[in-house]
Amino acid sequence: MIIRARTVVTMDSAPIENGAVAVSGNRIVDVGKFDEIKKRNAGEAIDLGEQALLPGLINAHCHLDYTCLRGKISPQKSFADWIRAINAEKAKLAAEDYVASINEGFAEAKRFGTTTIANLTAFPELVSQISPAIHTWWFAELIDVRSPERADELVDRTIESLKSVQNWGLAPHALFTASKDLYRRCGEIARRENVVLTTHLAESREETDMFRDASGPLYEFLKSIGRPMDDCGDKTPLEHFLRVRDSSTALRSARNDNDWLVAHLNELTEGDFDLLERSKERFHVVHSPRSHDYFKHSRFPFERLRTLGFNICLGTDSLASNENLSLFAEMRRFQRSEPGISPDEILDMVTVNPAMALHQQTTLGRIRPGFHADLIAIPCSKGRDVFDEIIGSDDPVAWMLLGGKQKYFWHC
Ligand SMILES: [Zn+2]
Repeated sequence: MIIRARTVVTMDSAPIENGAVAVSGNRIVDVGKFDEIKKRNAGEAIDLGEQALLPGLINAHCHLDYTCLRGKISPQKSFADWIRAINAEKAKLAAEDYVASINEGFAEAKRFGTTTIANLTAFPELVSQISPAIHTWWFAELIDVRSPERADELVDRTIESLKSVQNWGLAPHALFTASKDLYRRCGEIARRENVVLTTHLAESREETDMFRDASGPLYEFLKSIGRPMDDCGDKTPLEHFLRVRDSSTALRSARNDNDWLVAHLNELTEGDFDLLERSKERFHVVHSPRSHDYFKHSRFPFERLRTLGFNICLGTDSLASNENLSLFAEMRRFQRSEPGISPDEILDMVTVNPAMALHQQTTLGRIRPGFHADLIAIPCSKGRDVFDEIIGSDDPVAWMLLGGKQKYFWHC
């Protein structure tokens, strides 16, 4: 099959005017000018007309468990209050509600042009009941705040329920809900199984108050539910994370920064930046612009992290703190905060950057021979910058090729 469009945005070189992509099975086999592609490849040609053809988008951080909580929790006074509020909502949900919520989330993400998602789930035991509508990296979200002595058992039991899944990873939830032993065990499994790890880090001011100063609403809340608080009072969350991650000798010697996709990093001190500069730590980072707004976190230090060489991706986070699963809306919100960043670099943050974070830089995020045939089309007109048009695209996408198969959403 040959797909022709007004512009083909490969993410490798300048957009190709009057371009085309040849696809065989679920893979891209050729890309270039339409005339050349026609000469080199046999098969039916589909002309998408005045459209830009680009790689399907990749959401680097999401919790589809909570798609059904859209609009249910208004912004709270404190982060600890928000955790109480979401826990109250979760108490009303049963397993079938979560399965429906996850399926609804997949359908919505896909309508907005997402073809790959890094999805954290607190219910890995439900994963076998779900057939994801798009490529999915399932990250089992792990919390042992009430039983830290059973961290190894929890991790080992969890990976059993992920056995049926092709792409998976582990997500020790955050330093305030996952023990040092849980992080250690996840690190050991990641080395053994060669999987990606993700975690929430330095998200809120209250997290910094808790770890550095042993004070604040999050500190008080977690103390009240019985979390041992002896790790609080002297380190920032980042210092704590680097130490926890390196806590086992085996991990230290075999460690690979590349294993970690770290969500948030809103709260970094000057000391943290000094530490990052000295240590040459370069894990992957995911920022969720609209969820960030909802919580009114401190400004995300994009420029400083980029200058240090971090690979920065965008994600939606969950609909408990966001209104929909559109990565186009995330790109637009990010652009408002960072007007100096070019639109093509912003598009990298939902294509090539998250592909690298998921260790898929040779299969996803670009239009290149050998890569997955996951493509989307966005209407574009002559005379306008194609990247501006892509970022400005608000509607659900009208056309998608997923695994080499065409989907027309205007028929749905
Ligand atoms: Zn999250």
